[in-house]
Amino acid sequence: MKKAKAKTKKQNSPPAKTARQKAAFRPGKAVAARPAGIAPQRVASILQKLDEGYPQVTCALEHENAFQLLVSTILSAQCTDERVNQVTKTLFVKYRAPEDFAYANPAELEQAIRPTGFFRNKAKSILGASKKIVEEFGGEVPRTMEELLTLPGVARKTANVVLGTAFGIAAGVVVDTHVIRLSNRLNLSRNTDPKKIEQDLMKLIPRDKWILFSHQLIWHGRKVCQARKPRCAECNLEDLCYAKDKTV
Ligand code: SF4
Repeated sequence: MKKAKAKTKKQNSPPAKTARQKAAFRPGKAVAARPAGIAPQRVASILQKLDEGYPQVTCALEHENAFQLLVSTILSAQCTDERVNQVTKTLFVKYRAPEDFAYANPAELEQAIRPTGFFRNKAKSILGASKKIVEEFGGEVPRTMEELLTLPGVARKTANVVLGTAFGIAAGVVVDTHVIRLSNRLNLSRNTDPKKIEQDLMKLIPRDKWILFSHQLIWHGRKVCQARKPRCAECNLEDLCYAKDKTV
């Protein structure tokens, strides 16, 4: 009888909490919101492998200053960096300073950037951003995320590219199409929204690695972990990757 009572009590009890759940609910002892299932040692191993494979990579967009990088990054939406570099080779000869872009003839600028696609919207963004830089920021590209986000056509990805590559300021992590895909495949984030992925990565990756890490992931995405057919047999992260679409 006693045994039956004990069994009934056990069946009616809620499942025991894991150590992590207990810690999470301890008042005043909030656990850092690390994406589920990501062990710090695994993240460290991924960073080490990326360092081995891509020790000195940087942004592939050719530029001489922060303003040119800003224009190139706006042009790179839905376009390859190679094509943007082809276009800017002549574009930056004709339009040299922010003033040249700010007061350019819109139709002429549209034609000059046409090969990059979505040229009307891109021209509008470049004209608007340049005008604001000239009229409100003294002709200098601003150096804070808050200010950059006030420029037309500039969202967090573009702002992070400019801050990280042109100024060496780690304000966030660049999340482009490669970073989205690789973050999911490597289980660094289960989100699909770039803003949420960036938040996940900022919690997982040490801040002094944010700039290099995004370049490394972008290069790995281009060279090895390609969208349609990842080259897993050549990937030095293979033993750390549990992606469903692995090809080995
Ligand atoms: S093992 Fe394959 S899917 Fe995983 S990161 Fe490498 S290339 Fe990408």
